[in-house]
Amino acid sequence: MPKKKIFDLHLDLEVYFRYPEFLNMKFKNLDVVDFKRHGDLPQFKRAGLKIAIVNIFPFEYVNNQWLPIKFNKFFQRLDNFLKWISKFNAFRLIKNNKELRNILESNKIGIILGVEGLNFLNQPDDIYKLIDRGIRVFGLNWNIDSKFSTSLKTTSKNGLTKDGLRLIKILEKLPVVVDLAHSSVYTFKDIVKYYKKPFIFSHNGIKREVDFEQNLDDEILKTVKERGGIIGLTFLPYAIQKKDKVSFLYWYRQFLYARKLCKDNLGLGTDFFGFKFNNNYKGLINYCDFYKKIITYRLPNYLLFDNAFRLFIELI
Ligand SMILES: [Zn+2]
Repeated sequence: MPKKKIFDLHLDLEVYFRYPEFLNMKFKNLDVVDFKRHGDLPQFKRAGLKIAIVNIFPFEYVNNQWLPIKFNKFFQRLDNFLKWISKFNAFRLIKNNKELRNILESNKIGIILGVEGLNFLNQPDDIYKLIDRGIRVFGLNWNIDSKFSTSLKTTSKNGLTKDGLRLIKILEKLPVVVDLAHSSVYTFKDIVKYYKKPFIFSHNGIKREVDFEQNLDDEILKTVKERGGIIGLTFLPYAIQKKDKVSFLYWYRQFLYARKLCKDNLGLGTDFFGFKFNNNYKGLINYCDFYKKIITYRLPNYLLFDNAFRLFIELI
């Protein structure tokens, strides 16, 4: 049986590179296997990881709180991360759909660069500088409102600001993907109204199963379907947790539910390296663990790879 391919819409490798101490994982290079972390090259190869979106996380931890970094610092972080992964010769950056197609013929893992939150931009035109450096996925928000749009944690009742509207009109003309994973419902509604292309929720769960802020209700699922977008079902513990327990089965139930509503719009966004390592996450400890579930539960290709691949071919 040929191995299934995985397109991971949200793999926080850059967070692991910079903040392993927040993740309860030791920092080691990626070419050695270590089952006490979410993944490494031996695990990625074993599981069939083929394409991953890796976001540069543009916040820093200062005096016990997360604050946006400055615009210039973002590029330092990007450079440092790229220098690190270039050591392994196993990754290849993907910037357009031709490179996306070509990766299938190679033995490399394709990385599409993204950013999780736009607080560090000074003005909408800064987008072009990110495009020049290969950023293709634009997460409008992380958990802190920006001058462009509001986040899941907002206390406001507004979505896009005036500058935010200018920003998305720039994005609309570019070969990029907009990600609303951490955006408020107000931002979501404004995007539906003003942004004409499909968009994604890269690492979210299903509200009907778990009432968590990052999980999506049926109305959002239906809208994503209408707009031809993708939802990356996530392993983020809060999104799939019931009474302090995290299990693969809770994630699987979300998949079964969402499948009825929007089968062609489902993907995978593990969020591995974006949360703490924990031995008790039954069936979801790391990439290798997940691979066993792929086999046992015969997870379909459309979920693991095809839907996401199709949309990225269309958009980048
Ligand atoms: Zn996130």
